[in-house]
Amino acid sequence: MTITENTTGRPTLDSSLVVDGAMLIGGDWVPSSSGDTIDVINPATVELLARVPRGTADDVEAAVQAAERAFPAWRDLPATVRANLLFAWANLIEQHNAELDQIESQEVGRPSWGPPPMAGQLRFIAGQADKVQGVSLPTYSPEQVGFTLREPYGVVGAIIPWNAPGPMFATEVGAAIAAGNTIVIKPAEDAPLTPLALAKLALEAGIPPGVINVVTGYGGEAGAAIPAHPRIRRMGFTGSPQTGAAVMEACAKNLIPLHLELGGKSPQVVFADADLDAAVPAMVQGITLNTGQICAAGSRVVVQRSIHDELVERLAAEMRQVRVGAWHESVNMGPLISARQHERVLGYIDLGREAGAEVVTGGGVPSGYDRGFFVEPTLFAGVSADMRIAQEEIFGPVLSVIAVDDETEAVEVANGTDYGLVASVWTRDVGTAVRMSRKLQAGQVGVNNALGAGVIGGPFGGYKNSGFGRTMGADSVLDWTQVKTVSMRGAVPPA
Ligand code: NAD
Repeated sequence: MTITENTTGRPTLDSSLVVDGAMLIGGDWVPSSSGDTIDVINPATVELLARVPRGTADDVEAAVQAAERAFPAWRDLPATVRANLLFAWANLIEQHNAELDQIESQEVGRPSWGPPPMAGQLRFIAGQADKVQGVSLPTYSPEQVGFTLREPYGVVGAIIPWNAPGPMFATEVGAAIAAGNTIVIKPAEDAPLTPLALAKLALEAGIPPGVINVVTGYGGEAGAAIPAHPRIRRMGFTGSPQTGAAVMEACAKNLIPLHLELGGKSPQVVFADADLDAAVPAMVQGITLNTGQICAAGSRVVVQRSIHDELVERLAAEMRQVRVGAWHESVNMGPLISARQHERVLGYIDLGREAGAEVVTGGGVPSGYDRGFFVEPTLFAGVSADMRIAQEEIFGPVLSVIAVDDETEAVEVANGTDYGLVASVWTRDVGTAVRMSRKLQAGQVGVNNALGAGVIGGPFGGYKNSGFGRTMGADSVLDWTQVKTVSMRGAVPPA
């Protein structure tokens, strides 16, 4: 792959929020200890956007020390003051929505999603900061009182992926610091610019230096050094199951708790009585949004056999309407993030064909796109539940349709993968809706609704290999606290 310096010879992102060549440690913008950098490109044009430091274990050590220095004062601030600082951060983000949208769209290479969700997400979290409460406990004696305190862990760590770097950063950092922790976070090497921009706004909003430290770099270097650090007290990880297992192993060595937000193979279950006018566009959006590079992507359609042919026809027609192209208002779908992802997704399309599934639409690189990592929205029919394309996370715009006879088989197929992140059900029958909501093994279930859409403060996370722990909900702040029981007896007054 050749990376082209863009025509101006400078980064294309001409925004004061783009931090070129530096990361944030203890309130200072610094290069990596090795001086090495990583190129960040726009995957639609393969042009250079900026360079970020290739962080090392020494940089993680410096970040942990900075976070340790900042921790006591941050912990001891009144919770209302911490909340206000988060609200101020959210306000600044909102003022810079257009710039942030452009930065994220360009580093991820996708069309604009409109106003980014980060300000709203942070305000929800800020509202929880002064609601971190313990409980009073019954005692054996009237001379005693008992209660619990919820306290921050101290210096915590987080690692996030590239597919939605802004919202990932805002929700993970927001919840951790709202609870009074200070944090060292590593964004993905492919999309670190939105996280750095958000960290810059946090400083501007008055969040003290050292509360948020961002170490950029590769997973095996800066990333691995965070959970391996003996003074990190808790971790949050979002990414692939393989890396999640490695992070969990490192945490086990240091006996620290963590939450894992991992992949998915989310089923969209369609019954014969479904409102297909609503279901079809939602299902196509569920697999083409962000070019299918969403952990919650609805990559399997499980359909009752009597409407199989009609549904396949309508899904194919809808998919053919998806306009693919570079960052521009009039396209719906951008490229994949990298050459590696491109190869992987095309490889899965070949696997599907070889296994005997039928490509109804798509199935390759759109014509005229020899540059950038584009792939067509692809629909497979005739898929059986055990095929690899129906079992493994592809992380691309590839939708597999599996026919089933009835509700029992629908549940069996929908639950028949290692994953359990999100599921949707399309039916007009309230009985079916209730039973399916209970039986589906997933952290979120949508009924006649796009996956997880429209709910404010819904806890997000997985069943089975999709991970454990929940982010984004009211409890996400509590999850970054530990509980202390206090029992207290009054001293006998002096004689
Ligand atoms: P990935 O696991 O390769 O990388 C995620 C992050 O981990 C990156 O920052 C990477 O640099 C870092 N990393 C890689 N190796 C590491 C190591 N050995 N030690 C520590 N850190 C390391 O995943 P990805 O390809 O960036 O993202 C795609 C995956 O993320 C998919 O499986 C997707 O489903 C999942 N995801 C899940 C959610 C969720 O909320 N459940 C959200 C988004 C993405």
